[in-house]
Amino acid sequence: MPELPEMQALSERLAASLVGRRLQDARLLGFSSLKTVSPEPAELLGHVLTSVTRRAKYLVFTFDHGQRIVLHLSQAGRVDVEEPPKLTRPRGAVARFAFDGDQRSRAILIREFGTQRKAAWWILGADDEGPLEGLGPEPHTAEFSHLIRTSTSKRRLHSDLRDQHVMSGIGRGWGDDILHRARLSPFASLGSLSASERERLIEAVEHVLDHALALERTRTGGLSESSLSGRFAVHGRFGQPCPLPCGDTLARVSFESYEMTYCPSCQTKGKILADRRMSRLLK
Ligand SMILES: [Zn+2]
Repeated sequence: MPELPEMQALSERLAASLVGRRLQDARLLGFSSLKTVSPEPAELLGHVLTSVTRRAKYLVFTFDHGQRIVLHLSQAGRVDVEEPPKLTRPRGAVARFAFDGDQRSRAILIREFGTQRKAAWWILGADDEGPLEGLGPEPHTAEFSHLIRTSTSKRRLHSDLRDQHVMSGIGRGWGDDILHRARLSPFASLGSLSASERERLIEAVEHVLDHALALERTRTGGLSESSLSGRFAVHGRFGQPCPLPCGDTLARVSFESYEMTYCPSCQTKGKILADRRMSRLLK
């Protein structure tokens, strides 16, 4: 979290708010969040922002001299829009970018909610793809559908869905909801799916992400909310009734740092998937 829908809608809001403005200040506030040494932030100053777009879960800010700022919010990174720009350095602050304006200047503050500091940014020259190099295809493209229809992968579907070098924009949250809608086990592999199951997966990816994006487009400002999880149908809802009329209760698989939610009746023919808590108990 945040994933494709949150980042896409955020890129649209920031484009509407900032494109055409000149960068006045780019200030590093968080230790080690800037992942590149060259070009330096000073090279961006005075340049006009020409677009804000999204690729996978990255925001891409492009300036009139071709250099770009690429931003990844990771698990708990957030973006506040400040008008006028503030000078404070709040807890978890990562970076602040201030832009001029005809009436009032405006800034975005990147911060990390909680104690993890993993939000990161890169400054890329025109020919440097940096972290955008080698990302998998985006949902809603012919390449994406081709991948789902032809993949022989033997990895768990849940892993392939979330691997940004296999396909772009999907994470733990929307991944759970997608597999539930497609009625596929998170432990199945892409290579093992029938043709009709693959079509169900493509439909579920498009439906779930479109629905989420439509909701995200009703949000205003930056992306400041500490929790973005209230919009999932199954993710994070372990123990609650399945949203489909199967009568079952949502189950989970626990990993070291997160959990996966699924419906046994709808997705695994009633089978309960083993996780590390269960295998520990069995030892
Ligand atoms: Zn169900």
